[in-house]
Amino acid sequence: MKIVKVNLKERSYSIIINFDNYARLGKEIRKLNIGEDAFIVTDKNVMKIVGEKIISSLKKEKLSFHIETIPPTERSKSIKVWINLVEKLAKFDKKRKVFLVALGGGVVGDIAGFLASVYKRGIPYIQIPTTLLAQVDSAIGGKTAIDLSFGKNLLGTFYQPRLVYTDISVLETLPIREIRNGLAEVIKYGAIKDKYLFNYLEKNEFNPRKYDWQYIVSKCSKIKAKIVEKDEYDKKEIRMILNFGHTIGHGIETASEYSKKYSHGEAISLGMLCAVELGILLKITPKEVLKRLEDLIIKIGLPQKIKSLDIKDIMKAIGYDKKFHGRTTRMVFLKDIGSAFIAEGIPWNLITKVIKKRLE
Ligand code: NAD
Repeated sequence: MKIVKVNLKERSYSIIINFDNYARLGKEIRKLNIGEDAFIVTDKNVMKIVGEKIISSLKKEKLSFHIETIPPTERSKSIKVWINLVEKLAKFDKKRKVFLVALGGGVVGDIAGFLASVYKRGIPYIQIPTTLLAQVDSAIGGKTAIDLSFGKNLLGTFYQPRLVYTDISVLETLPIREIRNGLAEVIKYGAIKDKYLFNYLEKNEFNPRKYDWQYIVSKCSKIKAKIVEKDEYDKKEIRMILNFGHTIGHGIETASEYSKKYSHGEAISLGMLCAVELGILLKITPKEVLKRLEDLIIKIGLPQKIKSLDIKDIMKAIGYDKKFHGRTTRMVFLKDIGSAFIAEGIPWNLITKVIKKRLE
């Protein structure tokens, strides 16, 4: 078992990284002293895979529970699904000491976290991430959100979980596309903060069965924890470096209307490539960084070309991105692999140029 601490004074918590040890979950929850009654939000795929293990662990500790499953899709991060959860939670909550459990990928984590943050002005919640993306990124750091038709994550809060319980063994059932999806975030961490992690992916063949997931997940968790500790509310530049590839990536995701055309990771892979090309044009990024990133993205099987999308739709979607401060375009670039840099006032024509170059 590995434990990574997220030190945020009274909001501090642990990320417990385990292998095949959901049986221990109930005990860990008991230690937190956060209540007796678990309102579990999950999706039907995850429920089938780990539901029984979670339930029996809670039962062993005599914790009561109620399970709500949401459809396993980005479209579930909607007001409609969220309101339904609010009502179900309020119904379950009568005379109880309720806490929330987000059991699943980033979709479940984001919507359940948002629910925990505003229900009765905040109730405790824990994250049990089951996708690679959630384990290395979305379950850590307290960003919660749902989407609006105008764009992703427009309604949200900062609200830290009381525990992140990560079990690596659950990655065995994860479809290959979801593994790639999470690996895009792993590449991002390597690119912005850890050249050794980036090297690890470069050196090793793409083989999810042979990857040292304990190494990958704990490295990423540590990087994210350290960044969150320094910039919990995304107010300083430090946390913004986590948005490397996300500005244009979110534009691509929004332009594709959260269809199955692009997963989050696929979109940010394209966003990272565009950001590197932009960095080269702006003389921030050395040219060889593009080849290394492109080679790695190709090896892992992530896309390098934007298919069946219109440049106008992508640009429009980027214009709505809340990560742009006012009208100034602020973006994350690479000075080298492992070293990020934030620049402002990026001309729109250059952004258009690099995106157009990636269009198939
Ligand atoms: P997801 O939650 O939709 O999960 C992807 C699919 O994998 C789903 O079909 C799910 O049912 C299935 N699944 C989950 N665990 C499984 C397992 N162990 N085995 C088999 N199937 C499994 O997608 P995601 O990629 O985890 O999350 C994407 C979301 O995360 C986006 O909404 C994005 O905005 C958000 N996000 C949030 C943050 C943050 O800081 N809050 C950071 C990054 C991304």
